[in-house]
Amino acid sequence: MFVSKNLSVNEKGNLTIGGADTVDLAKKYGTPLYVMDEELIREHCRSFKQSIDKYYNGNGLVCYASKAFCCKAICKAMMDEGIGLDVVSEGELYTALSVGFPVEKICFHGNNKTDDELLLAVENNVGRIIVDNIFELERLNDIAEEKGIKANIMFRIKPGVDAHTHDFVKTGQIDSKFGFALETGEAFEAVKKAVSLKNINLVGLHCHIGSQIFDIDPFVLAAEIMINFIADIKSKLGHEVKELNLGGGFGIKYTEDDSPVAYDKYMENVSVRVKELCAEKNIELPFILIEPGRSIAAPAGITLYTVGGVKHIPNIRTYVSIDGGMCDNPRYALYKSKYEAVVANKASQPKNTTVTIAGKCCESGDLIGEGMQLQEAVPGDIVAVLATGAYNYSMSSNYNRLRKPAVVFVNKGNSRVVVKRETLDDIIRNDEE
Ligand SMILES: *Cc1c(COP(=O)(O)O)cnc(C)c1O
Repeated sequence: MFVSKNLSVNEKGNLTIGGADTVDLAKKYGTPLYVMDEELIREHCRSFKQSIDKYYNGNGLVCYASKAFCCKAICKAMMDEGIGLDVVSEGELYTALSVGFPVEKICFHGNNKTDDELLLAVENNVGRIIVDNIFELERLNDIAEEKGIKANIMFRIKPGVDAHTHDFVKTGQIDSKFGFALETGEAFEAVKKAVSLKNINLVGLHCHIGSQIFDIDPFVLAAEIMINFIADIKSKLGHEVKELNLGGGFGIKYTEDDSPVAYDKYMENVSVRVKELCAEKNIELPFILIEPGRSIAAPAGITLYTVGGVKHIPNIRTYVSIDGGMCDNPRYALYKSKYEAVVANKASQPKNTTVTIAGKCCESGDLIGEGMQLQEAVPGDIVAVLATGAYNYSMSSNYNRLRKPAVVFVNKGNSRVVVKRETLDDIIRNDEE
């Protein structure tokens, strides 16, 4: 009935998430409110992990891409589940370090890491630094030399795979700000250089072909291209690349139009092809890393809002105004991303109106969605927007000096705040007169 399996309707006709009544949550913690089902997050982790155990003899590591949703509590949950973490900034790295995350399981990404960021990663012995470009390689070598260590790195490669997805999130093709191109020989030159540098240890190659991908074929094709490159490096340079990181991008169900693949299908198909190809090329099976972000966090989360007003503009549209908007969920404004919404206190009633859900920011484009099916909403109702667990809180802003909402984790019917709602004092904290 709903896009995510952790959602249901209770005897009061209220929407529930992970067994908790969303109307009660809104009352207890206020709105706007991000609610995440911790059990479902953990279940997703386990299913990705099991896919590596089942299809690839456990010879790999799942790294949660924390940019999807990052705070101390989720880093701790990932730690608990025995999976790794992918971070893309000093802020994300700092969050992970603050809970004592095992550094050997951290991958540090980013297309333009600063010297401070590289230094923080080197000083903390981060397991793998994913080097994006030649400038970064040289800077990292210098920093590692200064600190007297050898940095473990992977190279970000553009395999040139079209992942049939939204242009903004397509990153595997040649016209991308991320990584080294294969076709032009740029990647091979970089490998040659890395092998010659004293303070660099090239352990692996990485690719990430896009986001919200529903096909398995692009992943298999990318894996093939990367294995061929590993074989090429071995035969031409005698260097053994031991690890292959295939990135994330596994699609999830935002609306009924989306039909995601079962998560273990990716590993199943990729494993078969990798094993075949490695046997054929006479190279050792690489340790495989995958980096799901959205697929771990998005389906586990919802956002709760309170309806302020409802404007019927005859023959044009109906605006349902909520107490949040692009400041807590900028994805419609950025990508025209589609969401499903429910009036949480009328969840058992039919969705018999078509509305535009509008935020409270001073922008006409501040919408959560247009042409959305919704139960008849009136002021005071609680609206739940579904599958907002990824790229909502992490992309939120203080535009219009709105306070960032709290994040609550529910687990088997219990709830706890994992990120406090910002206060008005937080808003002026860094201001000087
Ligand atoms: C964003 C990103 C991911 C996660 O992508 P999802 O679509 O959220 O699964 C993984 N790896 C890298 C390098 C990324 O940039």
